[in-house]
Amino acid sequence: MTESLACIGLGANLGDVRAVLAAAYTELQRLPETRHHRCSPWFRSAPVDASGPDYLNAVACFDTTLSPQALLEALQGIERRHGRERPYRNAPRTLDLDLLLYGDQRIATPTLTVPHPRMHERAFVLLPLAALLPDTVVPGRGPISTLMSSVARQSVWRAD
Ligand code: AMP
Repeated sequence: MTESLACIGLGANLGDVRAVLAAAYTELQRLPETRHHRCSPWFRSAPVDASGPDYLNAVACFDTTLSPQALLEALQGIERRHGRERPYRNAPRTLDLDLLLYGDQRIATPTLTVPHPRMHERAFVLLPLAALLPDTVVPGRGPISTLMSSVARQSVWRAD
């Protein structure tokens, strides 16, 4: 099977967020059929449409032969291991993992939408993604540099 570049959004706003993100990235690196892992710098952001403490966010990417659906299930397994509960929509969460991009594919199934349907309007996704892969073009949305100019007023800042 051909390899695709997968980009994953990581976010946490409960507990020891640095430890949670570091552990999640380690688990991503251990996924089968993945290689050439790299991770963006970490960013802090205020919750959007949600309550609770600030988030810590990052974007990780790697080359993979896992299918998009297999990858989504692997991400959900990692979230579950970090005790994520979903008492209500946009509740604070220990760990949130989103499949942002899978090569240049556009996917729409009942369980999976790629590119992630809200990534283009979220500075906490676009800033780390641009730090990692500045030439990214989001299929159907355009170059990341253009997308970033429309989220410039959201408060997101480097965590280190
Ligand atoms: P959330 O609570 O925001 O993490 O949403 C999780 C739900 O979104 C799951 O039921 C997934 O099947 C669905 N979903 C659809 N597209 C994606 C995607 N690109 N990445 C992660 N979850 C997705």
